Amino acid sequence: MGGWFRQLTAKISAALRNFMVGRYGTDRLNMAILSVGLVASLLSMIFKFAPVNLALFILSYGMMFWAIFRTLSRQTYKRYQENRKFLQLMGRMKDREHRYFDCPKCRQMVRVPRGKGKISITCPRCREKFVKKT
Ligand SMILES: [Zn+2]
Repeated sequence: MGGWFRQLTAKISAALRNFMVGRYGTDRLNMAILSVGLVASLLSMIFKFAPVNLALFILSYGMMFWAIFRTLSRQTYKRYQENRKFLQLMGRMKDREHRYFDCPKCRQMVRVPRGKGKISITCPRCREKFVKKT
């Protein structure tokens, strides 16, 4: 490896950095999308039944293109919001002690303890009252 190699890799990485300027890049949601795509493509090797195989094939490519689209997207704010919502959803799923509801009036998220039966919830934002089973 001479100096030319280092020069070439420097050039490529500079070009890549240039290409990615103003683009979103990758995040946790993209990792999840790619994981789903990978699982789908592995499953498509197991399930040879044509309709299932085709569906898995489409799913795996769809996920891959979706992840690429998000990585190269210039609408960074939108992508950031998608990722934020995804992380919020994951947090909710991991939370075994609480249930989450959206206020029917203003869509404010309300967190209540789990396993209290039917309770009346008052929205902290708009004071709307609604009954939910916890
Ligand atoms: Zn509300």
